[in-house]
Amino acid sequence: MRRVEGRCDHVVVIGAGLAGLSAAIHLAGRGLTVTVVERGPVPGGRAARADIGDYRLDLGPTVLTMPDLIDEVFAAAGANTDDHLRLVPIDPAYRAHFADGRELELHTGPEPMVKAITDFAGAREADGYLKLRKWLIRLYRTEFDRFVATNIDSPISLVNPAAVHLVAEGGLRRWDRAVADHLHDPDVRRLFTFQSLYAGVSPQRALAAYAVIAYMDTVGGVFFPLGGMRALPDALAAAATAAGVNFHYDTTAASTRRSGSRITAVTTADSRDIDCDAVVLTTELHAAYELIGRRPHRPQRHIAAPSAVVVHLSSNPAPHVAHHSLLFGRAWRQTFDDVLTRGRPMRDPSLLLTRPTATDNSLAPRGRDLLSILAPAPNLARARIDWDRLGPAYADELLATVNRRLPAPLTGVDILRVTTPADWARQGLLAGSPFALAHTVSQTGPLRPANMIRGVDNAVLAGGSTVPGVGIPPVLISGRLAADRITGTPTVRPVPAAAQAGGMRS
Ligand SMILES: Cc1cc2nc3c(=O)[nH]c(=O)nc-3n(C[C@H](O)[C@H](O)[C@H](O)COP(=O)(O)OP(=O)(O)OC[C@H]3O[C@@H](n4cnc5c(N)ncnc54)[C@H](O)[C@@H]3O)c2cc1C
Repeated sequence: MRRVEGRCDHVVVIGAGLAGLSAAIHLAGRGLTVTVVERGPVPGGRAARADIGDYRLDLGPTVLTMPDLIDEVFAAAGANTDDHLRLVPIDPAYRAHFADGRELELHTGPEPMVKAITDFAGAREADGYLKLRKWLIRLYRTEFDRFVATNIDSPISLVNPAAVHLVAEGGLRRWDRAVADHLHDPDVRRLFTFQSLYAGVSPQRALAAYAVIAYMDTVGGVFFPLGGMRALPDALAAAATAAGVNFHYDTTAASTRRSGSRITAVTTADSRDIDCDAVVLTTELHAAYELIGRRPHRPQRHIAAPSAVVVHLSSNPAPHVAHHSLLFGRAWRQTFDDVLTRGRPMRDPSLLLTRPTATDNSLAPRGRDLLSILAPAPNLARARIDWDRLGPAYADELLATVNRRLPAPLTGVDILRVTTPADWARQGLLAGSPFALAHTVSQTGPLRPANMIRGVDNAVLAGGSTVPGVGIPPVLISGRLAADRITGTPTVRPVPAAAQAGGMRS
């Protein structure tokens, strides 16, 4: 494995998002001196927060999967997740509402899921689900440690027996076809393919290898940290501090100093130099290249993931709404086509509705609920929509759709905040997308921007723009992969038993 050569005693990590926190903890846990420079006032990055009155909003991720990867990060600092964070399993992981009024709950355990599918679509479909589940577990075991959670130096290194196994499992087919081998009901299929949007690709175009994302939520399970999603970065930052990591918040990295092909210091916007032996950059890719004064080698432009409009709202108590609801429109292919190809707001929206107060009622004042609607939307490279003008009316439209799709409408609604692609663009995010680079075939595995940069010996990338990709599990892994590039892979890596077995946690 390629790694940073020479002295690496002091590492500066730029960004205290989940990738930066993971990198910092892994490096400190291996005995290095680590300084984190974060432009914001708190850790979390895109796992951002806002307090509006007594409402505690999570502005970023809401679907937390693969807690064993969180265990791995805490373990790297000699800590235990349970000492820092209370993760609650969410059951059902999602409740799906279809446009015709039918509902199907997605459970992580096979028995309740078999029952739910039998009631919804019959015993043959439930049998298909069990076969699909076995395939997802095999896919995860074939793929995860060897292709996702590891540094890959060149495509050649992928020619190995595991790759043959992955091809034999159908990993290079298309996701929707692989799922259709087992499930015949188009509505049931949606529950095991909608996750392709998390990868920024339609199920018709995504590689079946990405169905490992469906493994994560439909087999591994969905969790919620008490205190809100912000509890995760706060807990990781506390563990990092305890492991000796030094944090500089409200501090923007403006440039780097070089000596030959090595970076010798990170210069902050207030003109301080922080000397270093190596740097981990977790910003957007273009920002990372600007910071080190280079241009990407890639001849073609990067493809940004689709964006999203997020509407945060409060309502009267809504106990009929699950923690995560999938509100599907009648349209399916057309929905992906609108967002990914035509560049228009979805004509018949499919939405993710989240009610965190279903699990932690301390996030809203007594007698009120807190919710958010996430609507996939075209990024600004796909469509130059005037979101500042359209945003408020679009938020009202989304709320109306939610109320049509739920068995009973929300009442006493107050819209607290609306975030559109224009807002993400103002945060410097590529093409106004909060999801970095799409996982197209040309931006997958060894074809995705690598975490080492040609011509700079001691800079390593982490985060959603590099390998393995976007989302909490991948960026936590990316932090460890960056640490491995600096220290070499430790001979004994703390991998919890649950991760090895691909099993569930309750
Ligand atoms: C609305 C939304 C919903 C999502 N939903 C999910 C979900 O349900 N499940 C899931 O798994 N994932 C989800 N994601 C994706 C997930 O949140 C991200 O992939 C992940 O948090 C990215 O982490 P990161 O560390 O790579 O980047 P970031 O969080 O962006 O961290 C980069 C950090 O660098 C800092 N920074 C940037 N430039 C500088 C500079 N010059 N100097 C100093 N600091 C700098 C930034 O302030 C930031 O804190 C969602 C994201 C969003 C926005």
